[in-house]
Parts: sequence; structure tokens; C-alpha cells
Amino acid sequence: MSQLPPSLLVIYTGGTLGMVEGARGLEPGRDFSQRLQQALQSLPPARRESLPDFEIMETSRPIDSSGATPGDWQDLARLVASQHTRYRGFVILHGTDTLAWTASSLAFQLQGIDRPVVVTGAMRPLGAPSSDALDNVEDALRFAAQPGLQEVAVCFAGKLLRGVRARKWHTYAPDAFISPNCPPLGEIVDHQAILFDDRGLDMPQRGAPRFELQDYRALGASPVARIVLWPGIAPHLVADWLNDDRIHGALLEVWGGGNAPEDSMLLGALAKATGEGKLLAAISQCPLGTIAIGAYAAGRGLADAGVLSGDDMTAEAVMSKLIHLLAQPLPSDERRRRFVTPLVGER
Ligand code: ASP
Repeated sequence: MSQLPPSLLVIYTGGTLGMVEGARGLEPGRDFSQRLQQALQSLPPARRESLPDFEIMETSRPIDSSGATPGDWQDLARLVASQHTRYRGFVILHGTDTLAWTASSLAFQLQGIDRPVVVTGAMRPLGAPSSDALDNVEDALRFAAQPGLQEVAVCFAGKLLRGVRARKWHTYAPDAFISPNCPPLGEIVDHQAILFDDRGLDMPQRGAPRFELQDYRALGASPVARIVLWPGIAPHLVADWLNDDRIHGALLEVWGGGNAPEDSMLLGALAKATGEGKLLAAISQCPLGTIAIGAYAAGRGLADAGVLSGDDMTAEAVMSKLIHLLAQPLPSDERRRRFVTPLVGER
């Protein structure tokens, strides 16, 4: 690789990490750069001096991540893409609630990235008693300076996870993120970033940027539905979702290893939707393991209805991949082929 630029770019998007007390409770604060520089002064000098150089940028409107939309994912990816050759790596500071969604989407948009994009946040604001914010920023900076990391990753509580495999798993514990079906990519040991051997993406998936910066807003407000089955679910409810012209795809969260009711109305609604070119994919409601739709007679109907297997993907990865594929001018069979093909280590 040619000489890397000297600095990292830190992009502050909002979230608890940078929140301050407002009239109605915690709200995203401004002047983050100044507050972070001040907080870094509290680190022991040796640690502070061993941090990589970085510049900080704030998005125009820092938000609570509960308000993030695919349009925000798109803006963030475009920002990284536009700055990509100017920095050796990126740290994105983000609210934890939808951090895994943003990280998943960034992975699909920034395919082939040849440097680190590390997303982090915090469970408590910078400067609050026992805040995890400064540690998480410090750790993320250290990982973002590792040229061996060439993908979108989530750094939280000293662990580095594949971004498109990560999930928020705890409502308040500092160690709030896991990647249920993928081992960590690295760990902070004695304030040093250690990347585990052979856990990074395989060569065709990294090292040669081929960004796919689609216009997600053009798909409309909510192009993909997330439908979680429950015992006794009425098929007309599923049909109502899928008959809506504004819905172009759906994630179905089924049972166990790929099981769903053998209900002709339900399966008929799914088959009708796939026949219309809607992109349907299934994962399990079990947090661990993969699915094999069709292993049970009852689940076989899903495959016959054209529902694709989401394998062991997270819901965040499936939803963001469906949106990403639907935003591209592709024939339906090519979208289906790409959905079942691992693009960025998501399955
Ligand atoms: N509500 C916050 C957010 O997601 C939670 C957090 O950042 O931890 O923006």
C-alpha cells in the first residue's frame, strides 16, 4: 500500500457519548471537539502521547441515534467516501441504540474499504461519573490506526467486532455489544490494539474500494418491513404488510432452524410478494446459530414461496442489506443472488 496519510478523522454524530443535560433530559451536545480534547488531558501522559493524530468533525445536526434513518446511513457513507483518501482511518462516534444498524449499512456501502472504519459510542456521557466514553474513544482511535484492519468494525468495552455482525445486547452494561455468530476481530490489551490473526475479511472483500453509494431516500420512507412471527399470527396481517406498494422487501424472523407455520394463506401471501419481485429473507428468532429453511416440512413452504435464507445474519445486517440491494437498479434474480452471497463477511 502507498504511504498512508498521517491523521485519522473522528466523526461525531451524536449519541449518549456526547450528550449533555438539557431541559428535558440528556440531549446531543455541541462543541464535542473541545470537550474531547479536554477529557484527553486526564489520561496519563504516556497513554495520551501514544494516541494517533486525529482531526474531529461534527455532523451538522448531532442526533440521538433513535432518530437515525437509512438517509443518515447514506450521508455518513458519502462523507467517509469523500474523505477516504485524506485520512488513514476513521472513527465514528454514534449513539449505541442503532449503532449496529449504521455499522451494518456502512459495511455494505463502503465495500472493499482499504482502511479502518471504527464505530463506537458510550453508555454514559463523556465526563459523567464512571463514564465509559473516554475509554471507548481511546480504544477506537488505537484500532483505527491499524492498517491491517480494512473493514467497518465496532469497538466497545475493549473488544473489536465486525460491524456487520454486531448487535447491542445489553441496555445498561458497559460491555453492551456482541457479535453472536462471529468471533471478535481484536482486543485492547494493556492499552494496545491487538488484531487477531486471520479474523479480518478475506482478500476479495477488502483492500480495493468499490463503494456502492446508493440513494436510499429514493426508495421511500420505509421500503423494508420487519415481521417477527408469533404463535397464532393471522396471515392477513402479513398479507397487509406485503401488499403495501411502498414495501419492496421484508425480513421474516421465523423459529428455530427455519421453521414457520404450514398455513396456505400465509405462504400464499409470501409467494405472491416474491412473485411481484419483492425481496423476502428469513432469519431465526434464536440469537445464536444459522437457519436451513426447508429442513422441516413446515419450513419447506418458505423456500417454495421464494423466501431467501438469511443464514446466521443479524436482523440489522439483513435489513440494511435488503435496503442496499433494493436501492440498486438490478434485476430481481441478481438481487437474490447477491443477497445469498457474502459481500462483507455478513454471513
Ligand atoms: N439514546 C442513545 C442513542 O442511541 C443511547 C446511547 O447512545 O447510548 O443515541
